Amino acid sequence: MSGDHGFMARALQLARKGLYSTHPNPRVGCVVVRDGQIVGEGWHVRAGEPHAEVHALRQAGAQACGATAYVTLEPCSHHGRTPPCADALIKAGVARVVAAMQDPNPQVAGDGLARLQQAGIAVHSGVLEAEARALNAGFIKRMEQGLPFVRVKLAMSLDGRTAMASGESQWITGPAARAAVQRLRARSSVVLSGADTLLADNARLTVRPDELGLDAELTALAVNRPALRVLVDGRLRVPLTAPFFQAGAALVASCAATARERYRAAGHELLALPGDGGHVDLRQLLAELAARGANEVLVEAGPRLAGAFAQQGLVDEYQLFVAPKFLGSEARPLLELPLARMAEAPALKIVEMRAVGDDWRIIALPAD
Ligand SMILES: [Zn+2]
Repeated sequence: MSGDHGFMARALQLARKGLYSTHPNPRVGCVVVRDGQIVGEGWHVRAGEPHAEVHALRQAGAQACGATAYVTLEPCSHHGRTPPCADALIKAGVARVVAAMQDPNPQVAGDGLARLQQAGIAVHSGVLEAEARALNAGFIKRMEQGLPFVRVKLAMSLDGRTAMASGESQWITGPAARAAVQRLRARSSVVLSGADTLLADNARLTVRPDELGLDAELTALAVNRPALRVLVDGRLRVPLTAPFFQAGAALVASCAATARERYRAAGHELLALPGDGGHVDLRQLLAELAARGANEVLVEAGPRLAGAFAQQGLVDEYQLFVAPKFLGSEARPLLELPLARMAEAPALKIVEMRAVGDDWRIIALPAD
């Protein structure tokens, strides 16, 4: 391994170990290189614990003096729950700092690098920036727009159907696709669904550690920071006896505020939001979730709620799992998206398509 790109690629690999555990913080990796050799490596494990730079500098020890540090995100310059990493790098005597990208918070972007520069350290930013941005798309969107990254997961048959007319829908896809969905839940700050889905499927939206398909270390980290489960239930149709509520504390977004005490007594939170005809204002809900630190929101909902997210332009990414089956013309559509003319059809860009067991996964983004 050599050169800025090679060492940054290693730092990104380390950062990815935090995929399931760093939220609300970003995933960050760091390597310290002296005379072309890696002498220290680190990654941020979870909020409240040391940042990647601190771990890498600790491992490098005295060899950090005169070294180059590669960090996937601009080192912090502010006092959070831990002291600023810029100061730690200065104190360790590194000669050069290479960052993949600047801090996405517009208020502090560039401060960390400026501080290093003032201390006589050579700085360079923008190495493998696209990869670094993709890894923290949720954190970046929250910092820049005050909204989380919204990923909509859908499972459908080859003919684009999701469930029989009766509502029968479970297990369209195979075990590999279900494990992939478990990992999507595990990496998210929030897993969100609607009343239709919970009433039809008795869904819990929890992560089942044995189905994640991850090694023991990552599984333990993923389980340690479970996603907040959010139910959009404008008219409070899902009873507190539903499996979803039995599986742990949840947040219910509703247009009704009257039952707040009843939910609190059962260990849940009722969030009253404005709404129209019993439909919760989804943009306000997302803003509220971002304010609580949500970076990535996974929507696992039926055609109505998923369709509402799509129609309101609130989706950043679709993950479609396609099962090799036809469910037929009586079955339910993927999205409730009443369109009259071709010109109204939202354009998408497919960025990935791959086999997952016997199923296929398509990742598509709204084409802006
Ligand atoms: Zn830091």
